[in-house]
Amino acid sequence: MKETDIRPRDLFERLLALCREDALHFFTRDEWQASACPACGGGGEEAFIKHGFHYRLCSACDTLYASPRPGAEAILRYYREARSARFLATDFYRQTEEARRERMFRPRARTVAALAERFGAGRQLTAVVDIGAGYGVFCEEIAALLPGAGVCAVEPAPALAQACRGKGLRVIESFLHAVRGEDLPGRPGSRVFTSFELLEHLHAPGRFLAEVAALMHPGDLLVLTTLSGAGFDIRVLWQHAKAVHPPHHLNFLNPASLAALAARCDLEVADIGTPGLLDVDIVASGLEAVNERFVRAIYRHAGEAARRDLQVWLSTHGLSSHMMLVARRALVAGRT
Ligand SMILES: [Zn+2]
Repeated sequence: MKETDIRPRDLFERLLALCREDALHFFTRDEWQASACPACGGGGEEAFIKHGFHYRLCSACDTLYASPRPGAEAILRYYREARSARFLATDFYRQTEEARRERMFRPRARTVAALAERFGAGRQLTAVVDIGAGYGVFCEEIAALLPGAGVCAVEPAPALAQACRGKGLRVIESFLHAVRGEDLPGRPGSRVFTSFELLEHLHAPGRFLAEVAALMHPGDLLVLTTLSGAGFDIRVLWQHAKAVHPPHHLNFLNPASLAALAARCDLEVADIGTPGLLDVDIVASGLEAVNERFVRAIYRHAGEAARRDLQVWLSTHGLSSHMMLVARRALVAGRT
């Protein structure tokens, strides 16, 4: 798979240009707050400034994060009102729906079904709850794959919730903190909660994980993907990485810092890894910004087979920027 398969260049460039405008101008002065490391609460050195956002690298856990960052209310206002957020929710997702269905969402549905079988409810799976369901394509694909399971889209943005309803999906139009356990389909202990590429956007990732854990029961499974700041394309391209685009992407944890945060949020890590496919291709398209001689040599002297091997090596050893966590709810004294 190539990056342009799921992010056509002109649409993606238009999105990034709108994000840049919003990053620089959308937030008012009083909406900014200093932030500790969102994974461990530590502090760190400034790494770079991008579109007015200062990114820091935590000296304790190596998480890359924006600080100061807009407060929780300001981020909600951004996703409701900003031009770049609207463009993403409408034009970008609509125009890339079929390509992304084929190349991202269908394989993702197969992955989730396999993980449920391996780690969780297995054949008794009664529901899939997708948090931040967006355009609802994953929900459609998992519903087609697992016709016996109740599928539910949790999506707070009105336009996206409407799009999900238009696909005939069961929708909870709400932020996660307002979702009640009794609103969810399926039998507690035999459900999979999913959250794809959401954690990097959040003001407080730890609060989000704790909210998910609070909805889960023993036997339920969480499958979550996010960006790893220790991944190849992000470390090589750094401030030039398109994945580092504020105000969308504020948190870049890594396998170790995400596992530690999950554990503090009452989640028991069943598996964590970086099954990414795109790092080597993403660096190829940003190579003009790379000065590091060995990285340039990879593209000049190594053939395609070697670059494929490199991608496999990165994914295998936790050094791709696409990260996936599989977790259960930990057994906590006093809770059932
Ligand atoms: Zn940290």
